[in-house]
Amino acid sequence: MPVTEATIETILERLHEHYPEATYELEWTTPEEMLVATTLAAQCTDERVNRVTRTLFKKYPNPKAWADAPLEDLEVDLKPTGFYRQKAKAVKALNQALVEKFDSKIPQDIKKLITVRGVARKTANVVLNCCFDIASGIIVDTHVARLSQRMGHSTRTKADQIERDLMKIIPQEAWTFWGPAMVLHGRYVCKAKAPNCAGCIFLDLCPRNGVTEAKPTSTTAPPKVVPKGGFVPRPGIPSPPATRKKPSQKPGKAAAGASGGAERSVAALTAAPSIDAWVERLGQEMDKPYFAKLMSFVDGQRAAETIFPPEDEVFTAFNLTPFEDVKVLVLGQDPYHDHNQAHGLSFSVKPGIKIPPSLRNIYKEYEEDTGLKAPSHGYLEDWAKRGVMMLNAVLTVQAHKPNSHKNQGWETFTDAVIRKLSDERQHVVFLLWGGYARKKKKLIDKKKHTIIESAHPSPLSARAGFFGSKPFSKINAALQAHGQDPIDWSLS
Ligand code: SF4
Repeated sequence: MPVTEATIETILERLHEHYPEATYELEWTTPEEMLVATTLAAQCTDERVNRVTRTLFKKYPNPKAWADAPLEDLEVDLKPTGFYRQKAKAVKALNQALVEKFDSKIPQDIKKLITVRGVARKTANVVLNCCFDIASGIIVDTHVARLSQRMGHSTRTKADQIERDLMKIIPQEAWTFWGPAMVLHGRYVCKAKAPNCAGCIFLDLCPRNGVTEAKPTSTTAPPKVVPKGGFVPRPGIPSPPATRKKPSQKPGKAAAGASGGAERSVAALTAAPSIDAWVERLGQEMDKPYFAKLMSFVDGQRAAETIFPPEDEVFTAFNLTPFEDVKVLVLGQDPYHDHNQAHGLSFSVKPGIKIPPSLRNIYKEYEEDTGLKAPSHGYLEDWAKRGVMMLNAVLTVQAHKPNSHKNQGWETFTDAVIRKLSDERQHVVFLLWGGYARKKKKLIDKKKHTIIESAHPSPLSARAGFFGSKPFSKINAALQAHGQDPIDWSLS
């Protein structure tokens, strides 16, 4: 089905009918604030970013204030948004660039804006489209990319190429609307898995490229149901919750990123990947429907129960060990489920907390293997900072209920993390303790990486192959065999 001018016109008419004023949910009063908010929204919900920026935009009222702030202060302030070390660096750097190169103002030219460190084309489009109504380009996130392929608007896979294809067929005056409206359509109707073609306003226009389900004979989507001024639910399209509007935003806009605390925002999806290599590599995974469902589950659990680790420590392993720095992956299963134990690193507990039995056994083997004296605490942050990523397969748990968050989606996410490391890094050492971790071997390319495995250090199995396994010296031998520095295992 050729994509003609008339087809695009019809699509636009229907988008305007059904998503009349699609826009974004992040709160901002100046374009410079929007740039910061967009950066912080990576791997974080808009809701949480807004909670944080409501205070921080007063504390740091302009780019100079952000640029001058000590990095350590920014890390503390940004901790609730996750990946805070990288975000602190990114926010400081981009504000320094704004101060030094652009007199503390966002340049209203995409060619200049993308020269700011950490600002990729998608982020630049969000800021220019949203804050200045400048049609600098079309925001292409995972939803827009998917719809572009299914609807035959592009056959490419890279966001920049898809954007170029779209810019050729969509009139420029519609660029700033196309992205947010298509995000809503992708989020609620044309989902990655099981697109609701029967409830789709584009059924008669869409070649449904790559969709394997049989084509419905007719659509249940009513032709026109949304009056100007608001998002009205209709079959196949759940209504987003009410959204906070900034005074500077037009009233009545539906927020493309506003699908509840569980979903990542458009801005999150379009945040500059250069802020952090983890964000770049996991962004698509976090766009998948299962991840939104998982976040909803965890949010619901937090509202009703005590959940560990605390919200801002769920991703500690990623914060402390950037993607490019991972030399070793130690895979655990489930966070500790007693108060004050779990802080986002497998096997580690916070300072002052009694050392759990498995870690006590790890320390016994550590002393035997390395000759070093084990510390009196169980806080393994130093290892994480030296390239030992200590990841659990499941990242949250309900208090006193081990494995209570298994099979909710975390395993899919952490499997993707292992695959990313296996596919995109060279010579990582994967330390797999116990049957559960050993099952992950199938995710690892053994030709490129080293797998060290043994029994689990738990008291139930430590004598069945963990004691004497010498993991610390084996890891260093494997690293050195591939020309890498060994890990300094000492703990202060
Ligand atoms: S018809 Fe199906 S594949 Fe095409 S846009 Fe609608 S939901 Fe997506």
